[in-house]
Amino acid sequence: MRRTFSAMLTAVTVCMVCSATGQAAPIFLDYGDFDSRLGELAASAGIAAFTSSEIDTIKANIKSDLDAIYADFDATFVETDPGGVAVIDFGLTAAPGALGEADAIDFGNQVAADLARVFSANFDFIIESAEPRATQIDELSAALAGTAAHELAHNLGLRHHDAYGDLTYTGGDIATGGAQNAYIIATGSTGLNETGRETLREFTDHSKVKLSFAAGFNAVLPTTITEVADVASTIAAATAAAAVTLDPLTAVARSAVNILGEISTSGDSDIFRLELTAGTTLTADVNNDFGSGFPSGFSNGNTELRIYNPSGVMVASSLRSGYSASTYGNTPASGDGFDPAVYNVPIDTTGNWFVQVLGESGVTGDYQLLLHADTLTSTTVVPEPSSMALLGIGLMSAGAWRRRRQRKEQNQTDSAA
Ligand SMILES: [Zn+2]
Repeated sequence: MRRTFSAMLTAVTVCMVCSATGQAAPIFLDYGDFDSRLGELAASAGIAAFTSSEIDTIKANIKSDLDAIYADFDATFVETDPGGVAVIDFGLTAAPGALGEADAIDFGNQVAADLARVFSANFDFIIESAEPRATQIDELSAALAGTAAHELAHNLGLRHHDAYGDLTYTGGDIATGGAQNAYIIATGSTGLNETGRETLREFTDHSKVKLSFAAGFNAVLPTTITEVADVASTIAAATAAAAVTLDPLTAVARSAVNILGEISTSGDSDIFRLELTAGTTLTADVNNDFGSGFPSGFSNGNTELRIYNPSGVMVASSLRSGYSASTYGNTPASGDGFDPAVYNVPIDTTGNWFVQVLGESGVTGDYQLLLHADTLTSTTVVPEPSSMALLGIGLMSAGAWRRRRQRKEQNQTDSAA
């Protein structure tokens, strides 16, 4: 039976997605009990309590930082609750050491009203009592804003290993030199320290690509396509199938597509073809394969990623996304789900490149595959519709499409290094 992968689905799927976006939703900054938490912080740090004027300054600093961090997106931060929107709560408490917590890894922002928590009282470690009051306020503001931006980003689908996404990673392990800690989605386990938290950080380009898929944060969403029949399992079959195309983004100079795929049988192989131009780089990033964690007995994710050049030679592969303070790759024991990723694979030849998602033996389930490349005028190609029958297949209901998406219902907690 002919295996098909329908690039024709793009138009259909785009319309489904467009219905979920088109207008920016505000994000409610909930400062209920914030004064109490700052009082506890000041007492722990051994400094005078913050005045109401100083607290207003901290709030203004937080908003200024959040506006800057999310400047590439349609994000409006408000201090009155419109109801039913995303919330960042600065007044909750948690055991010492805990700094923040998010509801989920919600790539695409399927649930708008997720809650992000910042445990403000636990930021006493930011305060050096001998420093000038203004410095204390500046550093505390930056640390609170950074964690607020971080937890919100989890609720929009970002994970800690996205902090490594602007490096070139093609397999094995790499020394990062700490580069990941300049970014918002770094955390204690990636080596983010006090000084890093006191600095206005930003998103990696890779993170910006993922945020470009967040409903309510973008006027137009890039394409998400759904695997409706088992796609090519060999490079020869993928060569005969329609190419996957990438949409130019507005928030970052990359082009991207998201694929909702399925490992339908044990050891299933899904191979996608892209027509790429020499000079770009390609990132492939599996998200939330099979929903949560990985089965007992597996030390990696449920899938493996492999990239093949136009000669059919494998040039990059990943079993999982492990990290430590200074190492990223297959070996480090820390990670957040261990879904595999390869970052910025150099494309040295113009032609057909292939991305393979390979299921582990004995497991089946859905995955999301995010692909993105530098935006070059010739990177994207117009797909040739190969069969009108594909249109019929493409008219699946929005409900069926929704069920294929993976939202990881897993609290993300963050603590100091
Ligand atoms: Zn986190």
